[in-house]
Amino acid sequence: MEKMINKANYNSFAQLTDIATTSNGIDKLLEIVCELCASPRANIFEFSNNNTRFSTTYQYSKNPELVFQPDLLKDEPVEQIEWFFESFQKTEAVFTENVEELKVIHPATYSILKSRNIESMLAVPMIIDNTLIGFVGIDNPQAEINKAVLDLLHMYSTFVARSILILTLSRENEFLKTHDPLTMAFNRRAFELRIEQINQEQSLGIVFCDISELKKTNRYQGYKHGNKLLYKLSEALIHIFHDHPVYRTGSDEFVILCSNISQYDFDYNISVLKRYISQNKQHVSVGTCYKSVHAIVNIMDLLSLAERDMFKDKANYYCNIDPLSGRSRERRLLNNSLRNNSSDIIDSKDRCSIKFSNNSILKHFVNSNYFDMDVFINSMSMAEHYPYFGDMQNNTFYASEPIRKILGISHPIIKNLLSVWENFIPYKEELAMYKADIQDILVNKKEYHDLRYKVRDLNGNEFWVHCFGIIKWDKEKTKPLFFSGAVSKLSHSFTIDPVTALPKEQLASVKITEYHRNNKRPAYIGFKINNFEEINELRGRSTANSLLKDISKVIVRQYESKVDLYRLDGLRFMVIIPSEYSHEITEIGMGIKNIIKKLYNEYNIAVRFPCVMGIIEQVNYGISSLDIISNVISLIEVAKASPETDIVYYTQMVQNHKNKNLMMMALSRDVADDFRNFYTVIQPVVSSKTHKVVSGELLLRWRYEGENISPMTFIPMLEQQGLIIPVGKWIFEQAVSHCKRMLTLKPDFYLNFNISYHQILDNSLTDYMKSTLEQWQLNPDRLVAELTETHYNDHPTQLSEFIDMCKNINMRVALDDFGVGYSSLDLLLQYHSDIVKLDRSLVTRMTASEKSNDFITSIVYACHKFGKTVCVEGVETQEEAQMVTEAGCDVIQGYYFHKPIDVMQVYELLSQENV
Ligand code: C2E
Ligand code: CA
Ligand code: CA
Repeated sequence: MEKMINKANYNSFAQLTDIATTSNGIDKLLEIVCELCASPRANIFEFSNNNTRFSTTYQYSKNPELVFQPDLLKDEPVEQIEWFFESFQKTEAVFTENVEELKVIHPATYSILKSRNIESMLAVPMIIDNTLIGFVGIDNPQAEINKAVLDLLHMYSTFVARSILILTLSRENEFLKTHDPLTMAFNRRAFELRIEQINQEQSLGIVFCDISELKKTNRYQGYKHGNKLLYKLSEALIHIFHDHPVYRTGSDEFVILCSNISQYDFDYNISVLKRYISQNKQHVSVGTCYKSVHAIVNIMDLLSLAERDMFKDKANYYCNIDPLSGRSRERRLLNNSLRNNSSDIIDSKDRCSIKFSNNSILKHFVNSNYFDMDVFINSMSMAEHYPYFGDMQNNTFYASEPIRKILGISHPIIKNLLSVWENFIPYKEELAMYKADIQDILVNKKEYHDLRYKVRDLNGNEFWVHCFGIIKWDKEKTKPLFFSGAVSKLSHSFTIDPVTALPKEQLASVKITEYHRNNKRPAYIGFKINNFEEINELRGRSTANSLLKDISKVIVRQYESKVDLYRLDGLRFMVIIPSEYSHEITEIGMGIKNIIKKLYNEYNIAVRFPCVMGIIEQVNYGISSLDIISNVISLIEVAKASPETDIVYYTQMVQNHKNKNLMMMALSRDVADDFRNFYTVIQPVVSSKTHKVVSGELLLRWRYEGENISPMTFIPMLEQQGLIIPVGKWIFEQAVSHCKRMLTLKPDFYLNFNISYHQILDNSLTDYMKSTLEQWQLNPDRLVAELTETHYNDHPTQLSEFIDMCKNINMRVALDDFGVGYSSLDLLLQYHSDIVKLDRSLVTRMTASEKSNDFITSIVYACHKFGKTVCVEGVETQEEAQMVTEAGCDVIQGYYFHKPIDVMQVYELLSQENV
């Protein structure tokens, strides 16, 4: 032994010096380890996802044919080997001389090792700078594992860890050379390299995309939000143009180069892109250009054509943000000149050189004062109505006509407009707020102005305005150069509700903005009072109005010192609760509900649920006041759907109201990203006699934005997008690998998996299934394919073929969801099946009536006659369990016995039941 170690030692040191930091080098290290331990195979396992998962990342085996290796482990939950960590923490290896010892105490580890024909195992931690990054796993070591060997192994594992680290870093480096780290798209450098290599003899489609107003988003909603937009767009582009590279060529610009593409495919992709953009809030300008195989065109010319096309689209967007009505003539003029001469925008970044055909004062103003086209366009898109803009250095402004009317000034060019305007703000507090904001701009170099206040014109008319403006600073931010904005008149009824005298939505928005400006995050209650149409109709308008008035009055009286009450549209109300009272929010909510209930009683109105209510306790940073209000409104809608719930909390609604489109995108992204966020659970099925586990059904799960989405929601989406084909294959592989492992704990176990009828139309499925079974060396008689009967008649030929194939390879077939839809005994016999699964709806009907009890009994009888096993699904109570057992069913699947559980828990269950 001593000798052998010495020899290994010597050899390996000689080799270590040669090993470069390549994956090849890591293989060599593993080879040395194998030799040292006289082991047929060694693997490297790395941890990922904050040490919650582990995967095999390198594998070395002397003669692969001899060693059964079904598959590398991939993203396995570390819980399966959690007990390793105790030793790893002490920098000790884990040595298991006989895996049978693990069967009961660590069933999950046991099932992994056993299913890979491993009888003994050594795991040596890989630690760098006191951080555990993975371990080296040595299968079936035959050499004696003594201290000397262990010391050497620790040294090798450190060396391996270092090599991996260096390799990872250099790979990341390589990646970053050509990729944009934020969006994962290729970067500008990669773009330039690609351009040089483009083959003139290929067809080429070019797409330019530019996120409109990204700068504005960054400025007003924060960089985080801007980054999210970029990320989202990049993701969509990569998805839509799957095989073609997407480049981020500028801060808000992407280019996609589609070479070797037919015009038809190119146009199709563009139409998908445009549809995507139109479904999103964020506008993206798109320009395209296509060259066929034979056309000989300079690539640079093509690029600039596509870019021009994009600028045209952008100009169009700015011209069409709001309807022309109510807009100033000046703006229309500007827009027209943009439309006619879009290329001018390209060189108008600093000083505008646009020709203003008809308005000589405006033309003169723009040419003789500082004018920034970008800022002007941005400010126009933030507010409607009356524009004004000016040169901040000489304090000269151009004001549109409605503004001049308020001021009583006829000439459009106004000196010192910002102070002149002060004279028209009649209320002290609002004037102070206005002055403070202008001061804030100048002193704190703020870049925008956004206020709502009352203005009084020369004739004494008062009205609310929304005043918005953007300030452009010089590069050093020492002096303001340009100010451009717009004033919008807000109608009176929009501020105060005439019936209840409560402030309305717009004022709520002002209030929220104010809170946010002071870095405060209030909480919100939204509620709606019910059955008002009826009250109107039966008791008359005035009674209804007086009830409304009373409700508002009493709430305000009771809670005035703590909260603000607003009337939103219709019968919806919103309460803003400052953070110092937010701990009382549920109390306040219930208090309001009681007030409403009491008043309904006093008015003698008998309604079961006078009011529905939702609470938002916390909002994210960066969310706008309008988004908050619209969240409150949708929350009320959610509450309406379950009026018996006292209060619905915002978190509860998120799951039901996620945007379907976004979900579809996320699904396809996750599928492409190696089934990220997908996982499977197993619902154990028990024998009706012994109540012990006999089998299980594999069920798919998907996490989206941190929440589990119901398969009833996402499976149809997968089917709709054709993604069920790859996902179905992945599910099958999960079924095979889990089943293989479960068998080590319970050799007569069998596992059911679901097949969507879309999958049986896929010709490659059968071969895939066969080869996967082969690879894992799993006997197919341990698996059951569940087919849903709803589609049995859609594709009878394919279905028969699929069922025949299952029969041929000895895989069993279950007829799922029997009892839903048009189940008939005919159907039961038309296709071969080994197991019939009775749907939960039959169970619920059964407890309700004697007749259906007979019905189940007769189905069971018929099935048994034809040699089929009967499984009843959805058994939730002891009573139900007893009844279905009496009806003669063989196995039971239901929450009463087991809910779907994590695979880990199944290992435990099986090992406990089989001791
Ligand atoms: P299914 O194939 O009928 O699966 C049984 C469903 O019944 C599961 O819902 C299960 O959690 C639920 N269940 C089991 N016991 C009880 C009970 O006692 N009471 C009640 N109320 N429900 C019970 P799940 O996991 O939400 O799956 C819903 C459906 O989604 C499945 O119905 C199946 O049609 C589909 N699905 C799930 N996983 C897959 C999959 O891997 N592939 C395909 N193609 N479809 C799947
Ligand atoms: Ca099923
Ligand atoms: Ca079912």
